[in-house]
Amino acid sequence: MYLKSIEVQGFKSFANKIILDFKPGITGIVGPNGSGKSNVADAVRWVLGEQKIKQLRGSSMQDVIFSGTELRKPLSYASVAITLDNSDHSLPVEFTEVTVTRRLYRSGESEYMINNSPCRLKDVYELFYDTGIGKEGYSIIGQGQIDQILSGKPEDKRDLFDEAAGIVKFKRRKTETIKKLENEHANLLRVNDILSELERRIEPLEKQSEKAKVYLKKK
Ligand code: ATP
Repeated sequence: MYLKSIEVQGFKSFANKIILDFKPGITGIVGPNGSGKSNVADAVRWVLGEQKIKQLRGSSMQDVIFSGTELRKPLSYASVAITLDNSDHSLPVEFTEVTVTRRLYRSGESEYMINNSPCRLKDVYELFYDTGIGKEGYSIIGQGQIDQILSGKPEDKRDLFDEAAGIVKFKRRKTETIKKLENEHANLLRVNDILSELERRIEPLEKQSEKAKVYLKKK
């Protein structure tokens, strides 16, 4: 699986629609300070569902929308789409090419799409579990982040190893199953409470029924 292209429009410094096509091998992006090199990595991070604006070097999510220059008016939305080659089916979908799109409007409205079909943020996260590409993955490492990883909390380091070992998906499923089991356990307790309450009523009701039968017979 490799990154085939990134399409950016209205995201940070990219006012015009641009398409970056990548070929197999190593690609370097070169340019003067402040020309937008890191904005390309931010775009990839963002389209993968990044919710922490600090990771995107802004102070509110709307900061990612092109805010205008002396010569250009601000834009009303930001859109990023990345296309990955999936002919080896590393991503758990049948398509041989997968395009993930994220769009955000100034109104705050946002949308995610996988191969042009609207989807939830959760679907985007799930698509990339255990691939190392997800927003928690290790594929995008920003300036100064290696230091952050090395000096980070053991739990954070553990998350990184879990992702690399490909067990995040199973850990999540385990947590969900444990939660369901706990709910069922609580239901079972309630059923047992109701049962013991009903059982207590059986004996007096049996006595009453006997009396009623005797009465009917005598009558
Ligand atoms: P360096 O080499 O210094 O790390 P860089 O090439 O990585 O720089 P970036 O940090 O990617 O550059 O881009 C910074 C530029 O993006 C700045 O000129 C900034 O004004 C511009 N920029 C960031 N957000 C927006 C936005 N919402 N609208 C317009 N321009 C923006």
